[in-house]
Amino acid sequence: MTILRVFRHPAKGWRYTHNRLSPMIYPIIKYGQQVLETPAAPVTQFDGSLEKLVADMFETMYAANGVGLAAPQIGLSLKLCVIDASCGKDPSARLVLANPEVIATEGDQAEEEGCLSLPDFRAKTLRPLRATVRAHNLSGREFTLSGEGLLARAFCHETDHLVGKLFISHLSRLKRDSIKRQIRKMVKAGEW
Ligand SMILES: [Zn+2]
Repeated sequence: MTILRVFRHPAKGWRYTHNRLSPMIYPIIKYGQQVLETPAAPVTQFDGSLEKLVADMFETMYAANGVGLAAPQIGLSLKLCVIDASCGKDPSARLVLANPEVIATEGDQAEEEGCLSLPDFRAKTLRPLRATVRAHNLSGREFTLSGEGLLARAFCHETDHLVGKLFISHLSRLKRDSIKRQIRKMVKAGEW
């Protein structure tokens, strides 16, 4: 249990909130940290603590205006990601993928893509137009799901994270080196 906030209740005196009750927003790990480029370990425990972690990952993703978030981006080397292609507008669009694998793809799309771990860098990235993932849900049950457009892109982007791969690996070497150079400059300037 982590104590998140201590406050004074008018009637009850000093109280605190902890992360079993309230959502926790994690800091997002930026490019350069080893955890982002390390293959993650499979999820094997499907219990209350996984549910809590997933709820916190959704909160963290929404706070950062993301469409997807993978556990390594909050420093956890675990094959787990959350996706919401509706950006929080449609509760039924919330997806939890544990141990996901892209098992089929079809077609191509080249759209601008970004990543919460590489803030402010976006680049046209080639992805399949349609993708099917196989994953476990929060209860550990296996399911498959197909998506198109942004959802297919998110499936590919997030499952990439879980094998230690970032979207810049899909760019030309020239483009990738340029982004890396800009990041090195920002690191030196203390801006990363
Ligand atoms: Zn990402």
